[in-house]
Amino acid sequence: MVSEQPGPASAPQPSGDRTPSRAWLAGRGLRVAVLRGVPVYVSPVAALFAVIVAASATPGYRDRLPNLSDTAIQGLAVSLAILFLVSLLLHELGHCFTALAMSLKVDAVTLYGFAGFTEIRPEPPTPFREFLVAVSGPVVNLLLGAFALGLRLPFGEHGVAGTLLFDIGRVNIALGILNLLPGLPLDGGRVTSSVVWGATRSRLKGTQAGAVVGLIIAGAFVIVGLASANSGGAKQ
Ligand SMILES: [Zn+2]
Repeated sequence: MVSEQPGPASAPQPSGDRTPSRAWLAGRGLRVAVLRGVPVYVSPVAALFAVIVAASATPGYRDRLPNLSDTAIQGLAVSLAILFLVSLLLHELGHCFTALAMSLKVDAVTLYGFAGFTEIRPEPPTPFREFLVAVSGPVVNLLLGAFALGLRLPFGEHGVAGTLLFDIGRVNIALGILNLLPGLPLDGGRVTSSVVWGATRSRLKGTQAGAVVGLIIAGAFVIVGLASANSGGAKQ
């Protein structure tokens, strides 16, 4: 996800801000790296996310790989959780490096687990740059997904490596598709905004179009959720 800050670039941070304790105080989490001058933070929430992903994956792995020991199953589930987090981080770095390539400033990349944010300022000055920054994150996931699914082919369907590659492959494909849904605040909403901005020459109209589609998508999710809940209740 991209977080854009209007206005002038922020003042350079004092060197004291580079210590981990100051990073925690900033509320982003633990600073784990600095890539091309951009600090990368991981929030404690990401650890919770990893635990939830690993716990959710464990029963399925027991069914799919019945010959594996409990320790190996847990190791596989934790590996999936870590690769999931890495996939989310690479998504954000896709936004980050695209923005840097277009001479935009990136204040920070933060991984929360359930979501990540790339803080860019100023906002991309043209519809085309807005489009490229928005689309770059999901494209990273689609490429990673295709790569993992391709890499899995020699391993077959039932082994440990094949299972892990299959799962992380489809996670990335799902991440790419979900983020490309064309409504704000998703990346696809920024794509919609950039296209309408380019067609109308009005940034405001572009943002409004992205927001309206976002509301329609949110409404559709609510309706589908209620319908499936009702149909589930009717079967009982
Ligand atoms: Zn994104």
